[in-house]
Formats: sequence, structure tokens, C-alpha cells
Amino acid sequence: MRISPRHPRYRSLTVRAGLAAAARSGLVVPEGLIAHGRGEAFDYLLGERTTPSARRAERVAARWIRAARHPVLSVNGNVAALAARDVAAVARAWPALRVEVNLFHRTADRAERIAAALERAGVRDVLGVRPSARIPGLPSDRSRVDREGIYRADVCVVPLEDGDRTAALRALGKRVIAIDLNPLSRTSRTADLPIVDELVRALSHLATDLKAGRGARATGRFPPFDAPAALAEALATIDRNLTRAAGLRTRRR
Ligand code: ATP
Repeated sequence: MRISPRHPRYRSLTVRAGLAAAARSGLVVPEGLIAHGRGEAFDYLLGERTTPSARRAERVAARWIRAARHPVLSVNGNVAALAARDVAAVARAWPALRVEVNLFHRTADRAERIAAALERAGVRDVLGVRPSARIPGLPSDRSRVDREGIYRADVCVVPLEDGDRTAALRALGKRVIAIDLNPLSRTSRTADLPIVDELVRALSHLATDLKAGRGARATGRFPPFDAPAALAEALATIDRNLTRAAGLRTRRR
């Protein structure tokens, strides 16, 4: 079906059509489509733009990546389908950052498809296709990671991750930066640095901020970040948007 660019929700419909095609090709699992719907709902409530608080979180996240000795960006099927080019832009902006395929629903075939999609977009040396280590405390396939990637990482960027894995990474002493539109998710509440923003917007801001800091050396010094305050600000934005919408409805009656 052709989507008219004049449709008010053209972008959202185009993204959905792309994800549905990615599901048919085996890149995305059906559960990924449901997760996307949850994300869209929260984006709607947040106003479908980066809030000032999320932008501040992105700036600190870039500083953490720059300070890290082994930063890793974890990529699942939705991330590859929605933002392979943005992942490549982040990796180009900060070459020390490794990119690892990390799947909730892992099959060798899907891992290879996702790595191929990332390579087509320009990501080099994708990790995680043949995982060589395990994260303790997680069941079977969900624990499998790359020894050169997430296993040894000091900073992990986990977009669209689930809460269990976020908690397991933190238990290993890693600093976890989440990208998740739901400020109430276990991932957002567990991460050291939750970015409550849409994936493509967040990655493009990270690429800009990393590029601006190029040439800096890994210092191992991480500026502080107040995660509970960032989540409270996201909830306050939703609250304001809902209150405003409810007020408009009342006036119209
Ligand atoms: P948790 O275990 O953390 O509570 P969950 O069960 O709510 O997570 P999952 O399906 O594991 O959710 O992960 C998907 C998360 O990613 C959801 O919280 C959803 O809001 C978020 N999400 C989906 N699409 C996007 C997107 N494009 N940008 C940012 N976040 C997104």
C-alpha cells in the first residue's frame, strides 16, 4: 500500500510499514512489533519530540561513552530495522565504540541477518554473531554475549532492552545507558542513565555530541547523572501534556 506524504501521520505509518517488512524478512520478531507499539504510545504522550531533559541525558551519555575504556552499543532486531544508519553514524563518530548484536529471541540466522543489515549500513566489525561468553543470572540464550564486546564493556548502551538484562548488566558492574520511551519500564528504572527519547532521535543526538568531542581520550571519569530526576521529568512532561489535552476537551464541550 502506498502511503501519501500528505497523511498527518506519514512518518509513523512509513516506519510501521518498514518494520512490518522487516518482520516478514525475519529481521524483526512479531513481539518486536508489539514493543514498537508501546514505544509509539509513549512518544505520543511525550509530544513526539526530544524533551529538554532527554537532551540533557543524551549529552551526559555522550560524555560517558567518551570516558569509557570499552563502550558497546547493543543492537536487536528492532534497532537494526529502525536505525541501522544511525547506529553506523554513532560508530563512525566514536570509533572506540563497538557494536554488538544482542537478541532476546536469538537464532543464528537472525543474528546473521541483523549483522548483515548493520554492515550494509556501514558498521564495521559487528560483534555478537557467534557469542563467546555468558552473563550470569540470565536464562540460556538471553545470557549469550561476545567476550570482546558486552562481556568486557564498562559502558553498555542498550536501546529497547528488557529489564532483566539491564539488571544483569548492572550486577556485573557495568554502567548502563538505556534508550527507552517508557519512563516506567523496568529498563528505564534500572539503568544508570535512562534516555527517555525515541531511538532515531536519541542516536542522532549521540552521534552529534560524540563528533563534537572527537579527539578526547578515555578518562574513566564519569560525570554524575540523576536518573530518578530524569524519570520524574519525563513523567511530569506526560502529566502536563495530558492535563493540557484534558483542558482542551473540557473547553470544547
Ligand atoms: P521492561 O522489561 O524494561 O519493563 P518492556 O517489557 O516494557 O520492558 P520490551 O518489549 O522489553 O518492553 O522493550 C521495549 C521497550 O522499548 C518498551 O519499553 C518501549 O517503550 C520501548 N520502545 C519501543 N520502540 C521504541 C523506539 N522507537 N524508541 C525508543 N523506545 C522504544
